[in-house]
Amino acid sequence: MHQKIYRALFSLTLGALLSSPARAQERAPTKPDSAMVQAQIDEAKKIAGSFWAPEEKFLCEDSRTFNGRSTPAADPGPFKMFDNLYAIPGQYSVGNGVVYVIPTTAGLIMIDSGHAKDVEPVVIAGVKTLGFDPANIKIVIITHGHEDHVGGARLLQERYGAHIVLSAQDWDFIYRPAAAGAPAQPAPPKRDMVAAEGQPITLGEETITPVFVPGHTPGTIGLIFPVKDAGKTHMVGEFGGGFIIWAQYTDETGAQFVQSLKHFEQWTKKMKVDVEIANHPGVWDNFPTKLAALKARKAGDPNPFVVGPENYDKFMRILAVCAQASLDRRKE
Ligand SMILES: [Zn+2]
Repeated sequence: MHQKIYRALFSLTLGALLSSPARAQERAPTKPDSAMVQAQIDEAKKIAGSFWAPEEKFLCEDSRTFNGRSTPAADPGPFKMFDNLYAIPGQYSVGNGVVYVIPTTAGLIMIDSGHAKDVEPVVIAGVKTLGFDPANIKIVIITHGHEDHVGGARLLQERYGAHIVLSAQDWDFIYRPAAAGAPAQPAPPKRDMVAAEGQPITLGEETITPVFVPGHTPGTIGLIFPVKDAGKTHMVGEFGGGFIIWAQYTDETGAQFVQSLKHFEQWTKKMKVDVEIANHPGVWDNFPTKLAALKARKAGDPNPFVVGPENYDKFMRILAVCAQASLDRRKE
């Protein structure tokens, strides 16, 4: 994520000399909000209520100056989220992608693979800490082709024979030369499985449904899958493209991003998603608080990551309204 931001800021500086839209982008954070943007913030507040109030404040208001760089916090270490879902967060707070592990009777499914530099000390070590054998990693689904998600995939493919899954668009994206605008991928995985919208990816008894949500990259995918908690089944939604950071997007990719949020919302509504997770969790989805609540959880307590179908839907709508506000804000 970081590489892209620095590149975006660099090109923004150059672009500011050349074109007025770029100048507008550069000015945007210091200008007071227009009546139109204020109306969008009010709408997001109304959707948020008290449940998502801190998230709304971050996504719609604080994000106007947020450039993607956050304060480093300690790695909380790998942990169990649900009976069949584990997280290896690493130093998630500085923009590193979180790796999720889903154990099945036929081996392990992994979501994302972390930075290349982290695959050995954080990801593989984390899999072992959780009590699993990394040799059982069978499928690694990459939500999008940035280095903090796909960087570790090559090693997992070569050492353990894991199948790597990306959308067709992001397989092309990771092989595109850096000069064309893609992040440098020093050692991309060999071309392997392709994720297609709505076509389930299965291993053992587990099924993951990919949804095509381009914008953050040309072929980002969101994922929907069931998990179990104390015998009860819940449905997880992971929108694979994070939230909008105004400086990272052109008008075109920004519009695509907002459209993808609405598209993912239709899927998550249909599949009754009630659990929110993210590949870059943080302040925008209250991850640290939920993690602390999970660690303090006693038998019979609710799982803090279960927000309920209505609240999940509200969260998707807030993301879309605030992303649109970010894009409109810089046009004024
Ligand atoms: Zn990214």
